[in-house]
Amino acid sequence: MTRPVQPECTGCGITDLNFVYAAAAGWRLVLGRLLCRPCAGGFPAWMRRTF
Ligand SMILES: [Zn+2]
Repeated sequence: MTRPVQPECTGCGITDLNFVYAAAAGWRLVLGRLLCRPCAGGFPAWMRRTF
């Protein structure tokens, strides 16, 4: 039972150090999917959530 410790973008597959770091870097949840800043930027603001 291991949980992923690094956030991984569901759009392009890149990872970040941790969720706090990713959130500060602009990563967002879009329809329940974790996306990095460039990927999330393609969605309207109302679809993006912080975490
Ligand atoms: Zn991405």
